[in-house]
Amino acid sequence: MVTIKSKKEIELMREVCKVVALTYQELEEKIKPGMSTWELDQMAERKMRSLGAIPAEKGYDIGIRGVPPFPASICVSINDEVIHGIPSKNRILKDGDVVSIDTVALKNGYNGDAARTFIVGNASKDAKELIEVTKQAFFEGIQYAKAGNRIGDVCHAIGEYVHSQGYAVIREFQGHGIGKQMHEDPGIPNYGKAGRGIRLEPGMTLAIEPMVIAGKPNILELEDGWTIVTEDGSLAAHYENTILITEKEPEILTIL
Ligand code: MG
Repeated sequence: MVTIKSKKEIELMREVCKVVALTYQELEEKIKPGMSTWELDQMAERKMRSLGAIPAEKGYDIGIRGVPPFPASICVSINDEVIHGIPSKNRILKDGDVVSIDTVALKNGYNGDAARTFIVGNASKDAKELIEVTKQAFFEGIQYAKAGNRIGDVCHAIGEYVHSQGYAVIREFQGHGIGKQMHEDPGIPNYGKAGRGIRLEPGMTLAIEPMVIAGKPNILELEDGWTIVTEDGSLAAHYENTILITEKEPEILTIL
């Protein structure tokens, strides 16, 4: 079921999403080669808690037998890792690493979700371009995120743009509605047919999240049950914001 948020709920969504934006502001400022991904995780958790939120990914259980709940506050996925990488004291950031971070804050019963890909140290031209295309794909998509349009219009715009730039999107994971639950309806794939799917209405809050790969779109899951990597070892990037559908332009809640 797609939930329509009331005025009061929209205020709470704005508040929790601001926590996510402030968390990324700090991560972007402080991320550098030599840090462990665990340090990033601790930094993010401290920031969220200092703002009265809790990290909603910590302890998140996907309900698959044998897969432990997610143990950390952020997902950190480096280079050929696409999403859901687990922070670790042993994982040290190196110059030129492409670091995708995805996190969800929970405050007053509402979730805010965003992802960013950073480069630590000196970036290759290929990495910069991939990250730029991934970010732009989000903005191409949300041009269609207006009341009266269909969700397929957004999905289509993202997929077409990414393909036009010579990149691929993964098909196994997608964006989603968000609110009291981290994942609500509708599912929002990064590809699709225009004119299909639910009609967008003011008060819907959606997490739109292009996950883009430089090589072939095939992915593998590592033995930890979480980390998703590209099969061909090519670079991946992720860019996500929680948005609010309004009568006019969408409001991006996880950007300051
Ligand atoms: Mg996310």
